[in-house]
Amino acid sequence: MSVSAAPARLRLRITAAAETAVRSGHPWVYSDSVLEANRPGRTGELAVVYDHNDSFLAVGLFDSESPLRVRILHAGKPQTIDAAWWRARLQQALARRAPLFDEQTTGYRLIHGESDSWPGLVLDRYDTTLVLKLYSAAWLPRLEAVQTLLQEIIPCERLVLRLSRNIQADAARQSPPRRDGEILFPLRTPPLAEGPVVFAESGLRFEADVLHGQKTGFFLDQRENRREVERLAAGRRMLNAFSFSGGFSVYAARGGAVSVTDLDISPHALESARRNFALNQHFAAVGACRHETVQANAFDWLEQATVKFGLIVLDPPSLAKRAAEREGAVYAYEKLNGHGLRLLAREGILVAGSCSAHVPEAEFFEAVRRAARKSGRRFVELKSTSHPPDHPAGFKEAGYLKMLYLQVS
Ligand code: SAH
Repeated sequence: MSVSAAPARLRLRITAAAETAVRSGHPWVYSDSVLEANRPGRTGELAVVYDHNDSFLAVGLFDSESPLRVRILHAGKPQTIDAAWWRARLQQALARRAPLFDEQTTGYRLIHGESDSWPGLVLDRYDTTLVLKLYSAAWLPRLEAVQTLLQEIIPCERLVLRLSRNIQADAARQSPPRRDGEILFPLRTPPLAEGPVVFAESGLRFEADVLHGQKTGFFLDQRENRREVERLAAGRRMLNAFSFSGGFSVYAARGGAVSVTDLDISPHALESARRNFALNQHFAAVGACRHETVQANAFDWLEQATVKFGLIVLDPPSLAKRAAEREGAVYAYEKLNGHGLRLLAREGILVAGSCSAHVPEAEFFEAVRRAARKSGRRFVELKSTSHPPDHPAGFKEAGYLKMLYLQVS
């Protein structure tokens, strides 16, 4: 992938603190850490960062608008970032996944942004569809090259482009204009019929709305927790609050749950949950499990509910979108899980989740424990989990997912 001819390589000097961070492997240089540049930079070009001795420190993707001014691609000895370099980097990410999945699981993450050294870029596989999601405008001028590389290395029938909200306006201004949900490959007019993709996870079948759905269409990051929930579900009545498309529920059903209640505010999510149950009726246990959906605001519903459950999964959306919302989020987690605990039958299990990057794991776990102590019920902690291996969290800010499993007496 080369950058179009520029008068001179963009060279930056950064603060001592930023230099230390980059040297120790941190992948971001913030705009206010940039002290000096030899010229204005263009979004998407390579920026070379020099240290206080004028020696090469790192090279990264420049973004002239973002507070994350440079996303580091490589730090250490100088390297040429050419097509072979990108190919090797892609192959590294693929090699890391190779031992993780067999044909029972055809949906997983191939590239997880910064933690796979592809800062601001995510690539998910859903069977024969690849979904490329960009979180940084720096990738937009490089999209064609990325697409060529992906198609060269990874066989696929379809490649979908997804764009984070903050770069959609930039994308529309590219030539050609780019939009969220665009099918990059194959190019056909009229375009391929829209509709969800069906893929396998642990032998179960699920649909993913890869063109419009949240994230890239499915919460692939919860696979390990879904597997754990299947192991815990036998004979239990389950409540899946913030169920989305019923991922946890279908696993619980196969694990022998007597009934499953999917609770979500989105009617589309619940329709998808019903289809995901339908896709797995060939498992006798799924066929035998009573499935109901409740469309409601889960915060209100949980507060008012009185019916008891043997297994409750609470996996809300991020409750702290900004660092400033951290305290409110911690309080909301305590309250939410307090209601979950109140609705647990004897020997019931609560699976409490958080995907808020701004709420540290220790604070979240403590909030859940506080709720448990306040409930007055005796409880034990069964386990806690964090990131699955296809979503590695390679630096502090990348960690967002944490789950705590509690059982009451
Ligand atoms: N547990 C899911 C992912 C949850 S994503 C899985 O593993 O697949 C968060 C879900 O919460 C979304 O489906 C969203 O529609 C739903 N949601 C957001 N706010 C809500 C609310 N106030 N009440 C109920 N559901 C809500």
